[in-house]
Amino acid sequence: MIQVKDKIFKRYIDNSAIQKRVMEIGKQISKDYAEKSPVIIGVLNGAFMFLSDLSKSITVPAEVSFIKISSYEGETSTGKVKNILGLGTELENRHVLIVEDIVDTGLSMVHLLDQVRKKNPASIKTVTLLHKPDALKHQVVLDYVGFEIPNKFVVGYGLDYDGFGRNIPEIYQLTT
Ligand code: 5GP
Repeated sequence: MIQVKDKIFKRYIDNSAIQKRVMEIGKQISKDYAEKSPVIIGVLNGAFMFLSDLSKSITVPAEVSFIKISSYEGETSTGKVKNILGLGTELENRHVLIVEDIVDTGLSMVHLLDQVRKKNPASIKTVTLLHKPDALKHQVVLDYVGFEIPNKFVVGYGLDYDGFGRNIPEIYQLTT
């Protein structure tokens, strides 16, 4: 058990399980993108740790960059997606891979895909470390999923609770 601010979380996915799955995804991406040179776009802040590890097991030549959106305050989604910052990279005719920490309602990913599509890429695929299928409200194709998890709030490995907990190397789930 750990405490992050006023909440108690229990250990849910340990670091070795995360590393094993991240390496599997990296291998699969390297296979799928052989002969292609993808632009990998991580969604800040949550995906920083996942993309850091994932990028090390991607063996094809790849560009790595980050964008930032925010749709979350505290524990529940506000349902609003704000502007995307940093989508400056030239994406025309490029193979784009969007990397998220977690897909909850799917709203952020839908919004992101709309914006990336406008840049006329050759292809777009999505990667998420975590996915809550029971929370999904928007139709979205997830090409690579690390773990499907129940609809409970999690922190760690990049994910925060009110700004804290991102640096925890494992994934913790809210108790109660
Ligand atoms: P969506 O737009 O799919 O509803 O939400 C995506 C974003 O909400 C994620 O990138 C993440 O920032 C935040 N989010 C969703 N579920 C959780 C969760 O269980 N824990 C944390 N820390 N953030 C979450």
